[in-house]
Amino acid sequence: MPRKKNDSGANDRQALLRGLPSVESMLEAAAADPELGEIPRSVVKSAVRRIIDRVRKDILETDGPFSDLSTDLLFAEIKKETARAQAENLTHVINATGVVVHTNLGRSLLSRRAIEHIATAAGRYSNLEFNLATGKRGLRYEIVEEIICEMCGCEAAMVVNNNAGAVLLCLDTVAKGREVIVSRGELVEIGGAFRIPDVMARSGAILREVGTTNRTHPKDYESAINENTGLLLKVHTSNYGIVGFTASVSLKELVQMGNDAGLPVMEDLGSGTLVDFSRYGLTREPTVRESVGAGADLVTFSGDKLLGGPQAGIIAGSRSVIDTIRKNPLTRALRIDKLTLAALESTLRAYRDEPSAMKTIPTLYMLTCSMADIEEKAARLANAIEHLGDNRIQCRIIESVSRAGGGSMPLLELPTKCVAVSIKAISAAGIDQRLRQQRPAVAGRIESDTFLMDLRTVLSDEIEMISKAVSLLLSGE
Ligand SMILES: *Cc1c(COP(=O)(O)O)cnc(C)c1O
Repeated sequence: MPRKKNDSGANDRQALLRGLPSVESMLEAAAADPELGEIPRSVVKSAVRRIIDRVRKDILETDGPFSDLSTDLLFAEIKKETARAQAENLTHVINATGVVVHTNLGRSLLSRRAIEHIATAAGRYSNLEFNLATGKRGLRYEIVEEIICEMCGCEAAMVVNNNAGAVLLCLDTVAKGREVIVSRGELVEIGGAFRIPDVMARSGAILREVGTTNRTHPKDYESAINENTGLLLKVHTSNYGIVGFTASVSLKELVQMGNDAGLPVMEDLGSGTLVDFSRYGLTREPTVRESVGAGADLVTFSGDKLLGGPQAGIIAGSRSVIDTIRKNPLTRALRIDKLTLAALESTLRAYRDEPSAMKTIPTLYMLTCSMADIEEKAARLANAIEHLGDNRIQCRIIESVSRAGGGSMPLLELPTKCVAVSIKAISAAGIDQRLRQQRPAVAGRIESDTFLMDLRTVLSDEIEMISKAVSLLLSGE
């Protein structure tokens, strides 16, 4: 708030408080203002209250110099406050962190085709639950079932709100009140309060841990199987690696044991993928097709991790189990919505042409793009910042590493190029904080006391936006 030198005596304080305009008088004046007059009265009213409260608190609690109380300046503050209140809370953040599937920044970006499909599904009526051939009621799940089966090699499929929901639903359907055997090395916590033992408890299934943290053998499962066993579960340890003296039981071996004992086998893949990332020089992750091929009755995975689609939980499985799941009343509570379904369908269809999917699905592109692409963006950003012509700022291009994020490929370090920025008299934390206040906001990272922007996750058209944000930061806005 603009400040004016002022004597800070107690009398003066009282005089200032008396001089404060009333909310009513400010509202009256605001109604006549061409700009504020257009804004809903309720918004102006709470902005006026907030500003007057702030000034009063300022007068009572600080030693001054006090805010200038001229109506013009109060009006300017009220306008800023209403602008803030009118702006949406969910806002564009430029991801310069280099973490591709950044959970806090919305995980995966959608392809153009998926975005357009969402717009159509949102603005038009659709055949969401209407069979156009028969004119009768249809099932929303059938919209993506065929393409999931085609891409994953499964017999049947089902989709819900997210993968946590998919796991819960599967356990609730096949193992409620019965024991589920899981290796101790796979009792994952993925963050956001999703822990396998807790989800298990919620579903009413009974966790039966076997083996040790680093080693689990077939005989551990075999000796745990009893008449109350309901399921053999394998969980992909997406967000950590157990290295050294280790042993685990493959899905194939579990399926063999399940067949022998007449028990279903499920694998929670977490960030399931449809492409073999090792072909692109990244960590080998099991593909959904491999898990299905190994004979799992149920395979669950996320829509917005390595798949690069919307938040969703996909269940690939055998016809009989999927049909039972569909009849579970929980299914309705975890129902996928039509916008998600539209985006998911387009994303899955893109995988029919893998080379094209690697370019059009942003998550896949960011994970596999060439160093030349990143370098070109880094040079463009460094150049734009230098062109601001402000001698307080220094920037250089440095080498660093990006991460896959989303709890996927935790040990993978992707070589990248970052633009390192330092500004005279502003700390790295200060730059970070101020760039987050811009709109669009810019999120970077701090490494050895330097503010970095990793260009791997920055979209081409965001480079101009970053340099504008830096320029506003320099001008103190
Ligand atoms: C991420 C993850 C989940 C949860 O998936 P969401 O789509 O975030 O609900 C479940 N299991 C594993 C192993 C995961 O990595």
